[in-house]
Amino acid sequence: MSLRLVFVGPPGAGKGTQAKVICERYKIPQISTGDMLRAGKKAGTLPKELIDTMAAGGLVPDQAVIDLIAKRIDEEDAKNGFLLDGFPRTVPQAEALNKLLADRGSKLDTVLALNVAASLLIERAVLRRTDKRTGQIYHLKYNPPPPDVNPADLEHRADDHEEVVRNRVETYEKMTADLLPFYKKVGLLQELDGVGKVEEVTGRVLGALESIKK
Ligand code: ADP
Ligand code: AMP
Repeated sequence: MSLRLVFVGPPGAGKGTQAKVICERYKIPQISTGDMLRAGKKAGTLPKELIDTMAAGGLVPDQAVIDLIAKRIDEEDAKNGFLLDGFPRTVPQAEALNKLLADRGSKLDTVLALNVAASLLIERAVLRRTDKRTGQIYHLKYNPPPPDVNPADLEHRADDHEEVVRNRVETYEKMTADLLPFYKKVGLLQELDGVGKVEEVTGRVLGALESIKK
C-alpha cells in the first residue's frame, strides 16, 4: 500500500519518535526538513542567515524548504510514499506541496496532528538526545539511552534549549492557526492526543492510519 502522509506537531510532540515506527511498518522514508537543514549545516552548505534563523527558533524561508522537498520526493525510495515530518509548516508550503504532488499525479492521504500541551514540550525537547551514529531519539528521563551507548555519541540540538524551545512553540502556535484549518477544510486532518506512553501514542497513530479510506 502506498502512503503519503504529513506529520504536524509542535517541537517535542513526538513526531520523530512515532515516524520511526510508521516508516518501518509501511516501508516509506521519513522526510524531515529539520534533519535536512541540520545536515546542510553540518556539511557547511547552509547559508548563515538560515543557521541564525534556526538557532533563534524561527522558520526558514518557504522556498528553501520547498526546494528541498521537491528534490527529495523524486528520489527512488519515495516513489511509493513518504512521511513528511515538519513540512509543510505554512499555508504557502502546503499549497506548494499540493502542486508538487498534483504534477506527479498523486496527492496526500492524510495529515496527522499530534497534540501535546505547551507545558510538557519544554521538558521533552530540552532533555532530548539523539545518537548521531544511529539516529535513535532518546529522552534523558522518559526514554534514557541504554548503558552501551557512548555518551560522546549523544547530540543535544543547538535549538533544544529552554528559551529557543519557547520561541519554537510560539512559532508553531502562530503557524498552525492557518495550517490546520487549511487541511481540515479538505477533510485530511486527523488530530491525535500525543500525551501518554510512546506505545500508547503509536496505537493512536496506527489506528488513524488504518482508518484512511483509499
Ligand atoms: P519531535 O520530532 O516532534 O520534535 P521527538 O520525537 O524528537 O519530537 O520527541 C521529543 C522528545 O520527547 C524526545 O526526547 C523523545 O524521546 C521524547 N518523547 C517522545 N514521545 C514521548 C512520549 N509519548 N512521552 C514522553 N516523552 C516522549
Ligand atoms: P525541526 O527539526 O522540525 O524541529 O526543525 C528545526 C528548525 O528547522 C525549525 O525550528 C526551523 O527553523 C527549521 N525548519 C524545519 N522545517 C521547516 C519548515 N518546513 N519551514 C520552515 N522552517 C523549517
